[in-house]
Amino acid sequence: MAPLRMVILGRQGSGKGTQSERLTETFGCIHLSTGDVLRAAVAEGTELGRQAQAVMDSGSLVGDDIMNGIVRDRLSCADIAAGGVLLDGFPRTSDQADALEAILGGLDHRLDVAVNIEVPIDVVTARMLDRGRSDDTLEAIRRRLELYEEQTAPLLDWFDARGLLATVDGVGTPDEVFERVVAAVELHRRRA
Ligand code: AMP
Repeated sequence: MAPLRMVILGRQGSGKGTQSERLTETFGCIHLSTGDVLRAAVAEGTELGRQAQAVMDSGSLVGDDIMNGIVRDRLSCADIAAGGVLLDGFPRTSDQADALEAILGGLDHRLDVAVNIEVPIDVVTARMLDRGRSDDTLEAIRRRLELYEEQTAPLLDWFDARGLLATVDGVGTPDEVFERVVAAVELHRRRA
C-alpha cells in the first residue's frame, strides 16, 4: 500500500491528539505537528524558537515563509517520503495549503485526504472545562475556539473544493471515532 499522506483538523478538545496517535500506529506514517516542532525549537533556544516564541505567546500565527520552510524540509526527509505523513496544525491558512500542494507536487506526491473531526463547540468547551487546566478559563477557551473558526473555515473550503475533505463525527468513544476516521481514510485512498 502506498504511504498515507493526510491532514488532520479539529477544534481543541476534539480528540485530534488521540486519533493522531492511533492513525500513525495503524498506517505507519509519521506525525508531523508544526506546533510540536515550534515548541521543541523554543525549548532548545534555537533562532527559530526565539522568533516563534513571542508570536506563539500572543496566540497569533507564525509567518507562512517560516512554516512552509519547516514543512518543506521535513517532507523531503527519507522517513516521511517512504512512510507517509500525518500533518497536524499545518496547513493553517489557504496560502499554506497552496504551498503544501506545491511541496508535495515537487516530490511527486499528493495528499490523500484531510479529515476534520467535528465536535460541536458546546461539547469541546465542556471537555476543556472538565480537564481543569489553569489556562482553560471559559473566556480563554472561547477566544481560542473563535480564532480556530476564523482560521479554519477557509481551509475547509480549500480541501472541499479539491474533493479532499472528509468530515467525521467526533462525538463518541475514542474507538468509535477511530473507526469512522479509518473508514474515511480508506474511502479516499480507494478513490485516489
Ligand atoms: P498548535 O500546537 O498546533 O496549536 O500550535 C501552537 C502555536 O504554534 C500556534 O498558536 C501558532 O502560533 C504556532 N503554529 C503552529 N502551527 C502553525 C502553522 N501552520 N502556521 C502558523 N503558526 C503555527
